[in-house]
Order: sequence, then structure tokens, then C-alpha cells
Amino acid sequence: MSLDSHWFTELCEEGGSAFSLKILRKLHEEQTDYQRIEIYETEQFGNLMVIDGFIMLSARDNFLYHEMMSHPALFTHPDPRRVVIIGGGDCGTLREVLRHPGVEQVLQVEIDERVTRLSERYFPELCEANGDPRVEFLFGDGIRWMAEAEAGSRDLVIVDSTDPIGPARGLFTEAFYRDCHRVLGDDGILVQQSESPMYHMDILLPMHRAMRAAGFAHTHSLHFPQPVYPTGWWTATLGSKRVAPADFRAADAAARPFPTRYYNADIHRAALAMPEFFRAALAELAAPAP
Ligand code: SAM
Repeated sequence: MSLDSHWFTELCEEGGSAFSLKILRKLHEEQTDYQRIEIYETEQFGNLMVIDGFIMLSARDNFLYHEMMSHPALFTHPDPRRVVIIGGGDCGTLREVLRHPGVEQVLQVEIDERVTRLSERYFPELCEANGDPRVEFLFGDGIRWMAEAEAGSRDLVIVDSTDPIGPARGLFTEAFYRDCHRVLGDDGILVQQSESPMYHMDILLPMHRAMRAAGFAHTHSLHFPQPVYPTGWWTATLGSKRVAPADFRAADAAARPFPTRYYNADIHRAALAMPEFFRAALAELAAPAP
């Protein structure tokens, strides 16, 4: 929605709030088979991608989200080699995953090829690693792919999806997490973008419950700032089959052989800290029914 021609405004109905960015012009708009994609040039945040009225990313602050969707999970698994990204069509998460020299193959299963084609054009910096020989792109439904994938065939599943509406709804269910659990090896880790703790505990708590019911021994939400998302405060939730998220490879994270702009071992440790209301809600979730 536009307040006037100089602003893009995202309304957040569930929070009774809105976030606006000053725009210079609309660069592109199209209705694909799955969703409506808009691209804007903003005054201060670089290019902006919007899907179905919701901000996906800006050139200025996407590094926060993409680094936190990838590096904490990669530095928690003892030896991640085989990665699948579900969604992630803008390729920002993919670029971060490929920074890890130990990763041998990355499959990205994105339902809407247009998201990737438009990212190549309007966010070329996020797509700079797309030609890496370790990458394979599949344009199709990630839910279906997971249901049919071979058991134990991946070390890491990264669900970099839109909000739980439209084609992404099924990515937030116990049935999907069961498939992820089966597809992951013994040390396997699932990570999913999990919205804001300020507005979306109704999504976060069922996610923890569903991941645990699906067989993940540990679940943990990591916190980070994300200015262009509602409340500016976002989470990535890990489901781990064996390794406790607190036991991440901190020394390897500190000695990582690639540059980051937000992530480091201290940020990783800090992101694991639980606010009191979140800790209490999770404790209630874990308590046996009276
Ligand atoms: N960072 C973003 C956020 O949290 O708003 C998400 C970015 S990424 C563009 C999300 C992608 O998930 C979209 O490109 C969308 O097409 C894709 N997606 C949604 N449902 C999907 C599904 N069932 N299978 C594969 N990809 C899906």
C-alpha cells in the first residue's frame, strides 16, 4: 500500500502497526503463478523486494537475516556438507551457505522461478555465487520435494520462506517437519525463519511444539534485528536431532575463513539468549499436561 507516491508502506494488521520506506520509483511489478512481486528503488535502503504486499528484503539490511539464517546452523552441525534450502529465491541465504568451504552441495528448492530471475536483475550482489559448481536449482514445491527426498540425504535443511500464508503455509506444519527429520542425517539440523517474538508467539510456540513432536531433540530460537520486518526484531528457529544449539562450534565460528558483516561467535552466543517471557512460554510448552 502507498500512502502517497513517495512512500511504500507495509501494514501489519496483527500488530496494528505499519512500516514505511521512502521510495524513488517502482522498478518492476508482476503477478506470477504464485504471488505478486514488486521491486522498488528506495531512497535510503537500496532496492526493495515486496511479495503480496510484504517486504521480503532490502539491499541495505538483508545481511542480518541471511547471515543469521545460515551461519548459526552451519556452525552447530559438526560437519555440514549437504544442504537444502527451501524457498530462498533471492539467493542471499545461498550466498552465505556457499562461504563455508566444507559444504559440498547445496540444492535450492524455490517454488517461484520469477523471484530468482528478478533477484538476478535487481539484487545481483546476492546472486554472485549462483554459478558455483556446488549449487543446484530446482523450481518446485519444497513441501513435495521434502516428502519425496531420500532418508538421511542432507545435513542441513534451511527453510527461508515467506510468512505462513499461500504456498508457504504447509512449511510450518508438523507433517513437513517430520519429512525434514527423516531427510536429515543423525546430526541433522533444521532452521526456519520464525517471525517476531513481539507479534508472533502464536507462530513461534506451535513451531517449537511441532518440531519437537516431529522428533527434534532440541529446539531453540535465535534473535536478531531486522529493521524492515514488523517490530524490527526477528528470529530463526533451529531444530536439532543431536547437538544442543548451545554447543555450537564457537572456535570455528571465531576462526571462520570468510567475511561477515553481522555474524560472529559473540553474536551467535548472544542470539541464543532467551528473553524472560520467551523462556517462560517455552517452559510451559515443555511441562506435562496437568
Ligand atoms: N526473507 C524473506 C522473509 O522472511 O520475508 C523470505 C525471502 S524468500 C524471497 C521466500 C521465498 O519462499 C519466496 O521466494 C517464495 O516463492 C518461497 N516459497 C514459498 N512457499 C514455498 C514452497 N512451498 N516451496 C518452495 N518455496 C516457497
